[in-house]
Amino acid sequence: MAIIGVIRETAPGERRVALVPADAGKLHLSGLDVLVESGAGAGARHDDEAYATAGARVAGRAQVYAESDILLCLRPPDDLEALRGGQILVGLLAPLADARVPERLAAAGVTAISLDLLPRTLSRAQAMDALTSQANVAGYKAALMAADAYGGFLPMLVTAAGTTRPARVLVLGAGIAGLQAIATARRLGAVVTGYDVREAARDDIASTGASVLRLDAPAAAGEGGYARRLTEAEAAQQQQALDDAVAGFDIVITAAQVPGGRPPLLVTSDAVDRLRPGAVVVDLAAGPHGGNVAGSEPGRTVVTPRGVTLIGAADLAARVPEAASTAYSRNVCSLLATLVRDGVPAIDPQDEVHTAVVVTHRGRITHPRVAAALAEEVTS
Ligand code: NAD
Repeated sequence: MAIIGVIRETAPGERRVALVPADAGKLHLSGLDVLVESGAGAGARHDDEAYATAGARVAGRAQVYAESDILLCLRPPDDLEALRGGQILVGLLAPLADARVPERLAAAGVTAISLDLLPRTLSRAQAMDALTSQANVAGYKAALMAADAYGGFLPMLVTAAGTTRPARVLVLGAGIAGLQAIATARRLGAVVTGYDVREAARDDIASTGASVLRLDAPAAAGEGGYARRLTEAEAAQQQQALDDAVAGFDIVITAAQVPGGRPPLLVTSDAVDRLRPGAVVVDLAAGPHGGNVAGSEPGRTVVTPRGVTLIGAADLAARVPEAASTAYSRNVCSLLATLVRDGVPAIDPQDEVHTAVVVTHRGRITHPRVAAALAEEVTS
C-alpha cells in the first residue's frame, strides 16, 4: 500500500498544511498509510495527536522523506535535495514562475505534480482546483484586511449618535478572488462596485448584487476563461478611464491577473494621490514582478504622505490557514483518488488531468509549457 507523506511547509510565513487530520483519517480508512511530519499541522492548529487519532503515523522529517511514495506540500520545500528518484511530489509548485524547481526535480528522478497547472475549465477537475480554493480564501481575507485598516464603518449605521454612510468599495478584477472580495465586502454592509475586462466577469459581478463599473475601455477575454493582456493603446485607454473612476472610493481592492505575465497596473500613483486621506487600497496581485497598484510592496503596508494606506497583500490564503488547508486538503485528496489505483501510485498518460499537471517524470520535464519556459531561460 502506498505511503502518503505530509511535510511541514518551509516557506516563511506559511501556516497551511497540505492534508488535514479529517482527510488523513479518510485516506487511512481507504487502506493507505499516512505519514505526517511532526508539527506539520501546527500553523493550521492541527496537532500531532489529531493526526495520530485519525490513524496517521507521526514521524520526523527525514523519515517522512525516506518512506513516502507520495509527498504532499503546498509550496516547494527548501530541501528539495531530500527527495529521491521514483517519489511523487504534489503541490502548488509554480513551475512557470521558477523553472529551477522542475529542473532539479527532473534531475533527481522525482515525479512532480503541480496543481497550479490544472485546466480550469475541465469540469471533472473542479474538485482538485487548488488555485480556485486558495484564491477564494485570499479574496475573503482581502476584504477583511481592508475593513480592518479602514477608519470608518463599512455598513450604514443608524444610531442615537447619528447616521453613518456606508463605505464605497471598488474591486478591480472579478475572477475568483475578486468575486469573493465583492461578496465579503457586501456581507459587511459596504456599497460595492466591481470591474473586470472580461464581459463574462461583469455578469458575475452583477449576479452578486454589486454594481458594475462600465468604462469606455475595451473588453479582453482570452483563452480558457482568463483575460488576455491588453495592447498598449487599450491599456492607456483603460488607465485614463480608471484614474477618473477610482477617486471616489473609500476602499479599493485589486485582484487582476493575466496568465503567465506581470499583473496589469490598474491604480497609478496619480489615482492613489486622488484618493481621500484615510482611503485603503489592498493589492492582491502584489508580488516580486509588480502588482496592480503603484507603490504597493508585497507583504508590506505603506501609508502615503496624504494618508492613503496601501496594503501589498501577497499570499493571503496562508493567513487564513485553517480554511485554506481544509480546502487544499480536499483538492489533494480528489487528485489522489485518480493517482492511486488499488493502493499503488500510477501516472496514467491517457488521463487528461495527469498530462496537464505532471511536470517531471522519469528524469524528464514532461510538461511542454514548462520545458519551453526553461528553454527560453537558458537562451536568454
Ligand atoms: P486570474 O487570477 O488570472 O485573474 C483575475 C481577474 O483579473 C480575471 O477575472 C481577469 O479577467 C481580470 N483582469 C485581468 N486583466 C485585467 C485588467 N487589465 N483590468 C481588469 N481586470 C483584469 O483569474 P482567476 O480568478 O484564477 O480565474 C479567472 C476565470 O477563470 C474565472 O473567472 C473563470 O471564468 C475561469 N475559471 C473557471 C473555472 C471552472 O470552470 N471550473 C475555475 C476557475 C476559474
